[in-house]
Amino acid sequence: MSADVLIIYNGGTIGMQPSDQGYAPVPGYLQQQMQSIPAFAKPGLPRYDIIEQHPLIDSAHMHPDRWWGIAKLIEQYHDQYRGFVILHGTDTLAYTASALPFMLENLRKPVILTGSQIPLCEIRNDAQENLVTSLMIAAHYPIPEVCLYFGGKLMRGCRATKLDATGFQAFFSPNYPLLGDVGIDIDIYWERIQAMPKTHAPLKIRAVHEATVGALRLFPGISASVLENILRPPLQGLVLETFGVGNGPSNDPIFLRVLKEATAAGIVLVNCSQCSKGRIRQEAYAAGHALADCGVVSGEDLTTEAALAKLYYLLSEGYSPPEVRLLMGQNLRGEMRP
Ligand code: ASP
Repeated sequence: MSADVLIIYNGGTIGMQPSDQGYAPVPGYLQQQMQSIPAFAKPGLPRYDIIEQHPLIDSAHMHPDRWWGIAKLIEQYHDQYRGFVILHGTDTLAYTASALPFMLENLRKPVILTGSQIPLCEIRNDAQENLVTSLMIAAHYPIPEVCLYFGGKLMRGCRATKLDATGFQAFFSPNYPLLGDVGIDIDIYWERIQAMPKTHAPLKIRAVHEATVGALRLFPGISASVLENILRPPLQGLVLETFGVGNGPSNDPIFLRVLKEATAAGIVLVNCSQCSKGRIRQEAYAAGHALADCGVVSGEDLTTEAALAKLYYLLSEGYSPPEVRLLMGQNLRGEMRP
């Protein structure tokens, strides 16, 4: 093994160059910047190789097919490196960090996703710290999990969500404590980290791109016809972003009828809260109970990103709608409280 860490460079602000149209990724530019910064040549830095994806993207262009490409690279090189760093734009970083845990079964190595709010090429940036610390964690801490490192915080990937469009503390983990804090020291909270897989079975990658899923945020005045329009074939699963602990317009009989018909047609409806923190309690109010009566299943304390990723995964695996409804309520990868 010549290098410790494989960097999979996918795009995002971290490696972007200013242009007339704003920041954009340019092939080879990140590597050039890294070569010009002394920190990346210091002996204490883990040795790394970089695979640059083609094309490099703004993460607003992210697609599940691309998650598959990342998972395949991790499968190919899983045994050759101590860990992996995925460089990714921040806009959809939490979606990728939520999907990869479902895709990487029997993962034994750290997979650290990071990015930055200001590119490495700028004098003042958060890119260098995020990248250097991610390399250190990937090389020296045997965490068998997909994590997101950003702004001094290490989070479980499938628990993280983007919180701040401009601040350096751009992500948070509303319903699971941090896996690590980085200041003068790198403190890892081992008791919060998933156990190493007991089996010696090799890493198995699972596809998530063979399903059609969606998300709909409820708002006061949403009409049943808006809901009906989204609940059309080929849709297989929908995350309903509801109010508070899982409430919706239960005073609208047509809205409820549309939900019931969708359930009968085999569409899996999952209740996630518009509030980032806390969990669904559909039984707490009549306005939530009515949704449950229409077959909507509780998303518990899942983030919307994790609920979408889990739906993608379960539906792509070919589970039947009743099986998917059941499994949505079970913790599979640390994405929800057990
Ligand atoms: N638009 C950029 C992206 O997600 C934003 C970033 O990286 O911070 O690729």
